Amino acid sequence: AKERGRSRVETFSLTLQHNATKRAQMDVALRFALDRDELSLCYQPKVSLIDGSVLGFELLLRWRSEEYGDIPPSEFIPIAESSGIIIPIGLWVLEQACWQLNRWQSEAGDRNHLTVAVNVSMRQLMQPSFLSDVAEILARTGIAASSLELEVTETSAMANPAQTAETMAALKTLGIRLALDDFGTGYSSLAYLQSLPIDVLKIDKTFVSHLGKQQNDDAIVRLIIALAKTLHLEIVAEGVENKAQMHELQKLGCLIGQGHYFSPPMKQHEAEKLLRANRQF
Ligand code: C2E
Ligand code: CA
Ligand code: CA
Ligand code: CA
Repeated sequence: AKERGRSRVETFSLTLQHNATKRAQMDVALRFALDRDELSLCYQPKVSLIDGSVLGFELLLRWRSEEYGDIPPSEFIPIAESSGIIIPIGLWVLEQACWQLNRWQSEAGDRNHLTVAVNVSMRQLMQPSFLSDVAEILARTGIAASSLELEVTETSAMANPAQTAETMAALKTLGIRLALDDFGTGYSSLAYLQSLPIDVLKIDKTFVSHLGKQQNDDAIVRLIIALAKTLHLEIVAEGVENKAQMHELQKLGCLIGQGHYFSPPMKQHEAEKLLRANRQF
């Protein structure tokens, strides 16, 4: 039994070592990813649950590595965060988003209200130059600040509550919009929420996935929507996968949704085609 115990420990530490090595290798590969054009963005529409129109897009990062193939963001974002390479990558994402919006805004008048949402990691947000970087990108691309939305997860905000609130307040002076992402998973208090200058709550997809089932567990979603209304926040449901969930959300008074039911994240040219066709979901 002792023997076996030890070999299990060895296997375990070998796995850890293997993971550490793999992370280190990926970290190196990530450093070259931008220059090698291995990063790209896909677009997921945000849809009005009232009339099915496209209100905007969330931009999601993709990495096709020459050595490792397609790596999902859930794997490479944490690596990029711990090495700090997320900072130049994040600025690149932001710049891409703003240029895209610039093209859309100059193309057609009635698309001026279109918004683009970008995910921002805590590491980026806490960067002292972040505010001036965002201001500079806004100036350079000439887009209306109010059509740019930055998404920060509730969990990461809670890891650094005071500093997050301070940085967010500074960002709000630029006129951009702020969203609290994956809401409901981070246990923030009502008082803390009220101290954040946010515009949007995004209901985490785990709660949305419970909607419309036989044992319809909608209490949390109901609560989040009530909270958002009290605080005059916009509410977006993420991970809407079927009609039943959409109907539940409509019944509960959620006005905006995102998810595979409408569309998975799509390539840029597909997003443009969608806009040109002025498609209603
Ligand atoms: P997130 O911001 O919560 O993004 C939503 C995730 O849900 C995306 O995964 C999206 O593809 C997926 N999704 C969309 N609709 C559905 C649906 O109907 N059902 C289900 N099950 N999933 C759906 P993705 O693209 O793999 O991104 C994962 C996470 O990586 C994102 O979660 C975000 O936290 C992070 N991420 C992605 N792009 C960036 C970025 O540019 N910067 C930073 N810092 N983080 C990013
Ligand atoms: Ca997000
Ligand atoms: Ca989310
Ligand atoms: Ca998430």
